[in-house]
Amino acid sequence: MDQVTTGVHQVSKGVNAFIIDGDDGVVLVDAGLPKRHGAIVGGLASIGRSVGDVRAIVLTHAHADHFGGAAALKRQTGASLIASDIDAPVIEGLRPVPAPPILDLPVLRLIARLVPSPESATVDERVTIGAITVAPDLEVIPTPGHTDGHISLLLDRAGGVLFVGDAAMATRSGGVQRGFMNRKSPTFDSSLVVMAHLEFAVACFGHSGPITSGASGAFRSFVDSL
Ligand SMILES: [Zn+2]
Repeated sequence: MDQVTTGVHQVSKGVNAFIIDGDDGVVLVDAGLPKRHGAIVGGLASIGRSVGDVRAIVLTHAHADHFGGAAALKRQTGASLIASDIDAPVIEGLRPVPAPPILDLPVLRLIARLVPSPESATVDERVTIGAITVAPDLEVIPTPGHTDGHISLLLDRAGGVLFVGDAAMATRSGGVQRGFMNRKSPTFDSSLVVMAHLEFAVACFGHSGPITSGASGAFRSFVDSL
């Protein structure tokens, strides 16, 4: 597990999930792949926290590699599960998991088939934009495109930390790109513009390492190049 910035830790187990350690307990952003939630529980232990310290699990979107561990983590922690109102029915098993925008590539279709089916979980708080009742230091930013209900989360700490989910990805040189799991669309690119208008020093991504300084500037540079 890696510390991204003070009290923000990245758990990497095929996909990234995040532990936010605060005075009022712990908030998780995303829940990892199905049957891989042990890495998150281990991450909690490594910072001296336990499952009982987790008060909220916030999901960026309803793909198996981001909500796969949600049901198990909810059982272990007793925490509230939070997701967007649009993606919540998928997490609850009421609608099929939507394909990522790039799944017409055969190799990615193959990889997607290797991911175990996620266990559905009841969503306790459905959000659209703005505050989260049980995690008031996080602001919900709607960033549709990767999924219809995709949200990013802005933490008011360390100059601002944006949890981007799969709404973008970092390049190796600290820039921003759409990422292998996305393709250009008006909705997707509008979400990039929304993020570029925010102020944040740090950006955390589902499928790349973080940008640890000047992150909103990196988003603005990418948007300017579109
Ligand atoms: Zn995704």
